[in-house]
Amino acid sequence: MSREAYTVPTTAPNLGRDQSFSSEGPAVNYLCGDCNSKVALKKGDPIRCKECGHRVLYKERTKRMVQFEAR
Ligand SMILES: [Zn+2]
Repeated sequence: MSREAYTVPTTAPNLGRDQSFSSEGPAVNYLCGDCNSKVALKKGDPIRCKECGHRVLYKERTKRMVQFEAR
């Protein structure tokens, strides 16, 4: 039952490499709705300001609000 140990995935998920550029795509810049600081997020990253922890971020390019509820 240890066959999985011998299979190497061709597309390895990010293993703690450079977070600014990975196979998931480039980071998207957001602006915090509270402290207005720039937050760079990739797909899969939690929508959250890294400065104050606010969860309402504005997409920098579209000015469209993106809000995620706290779980
Ligand atoms: Zn903030």
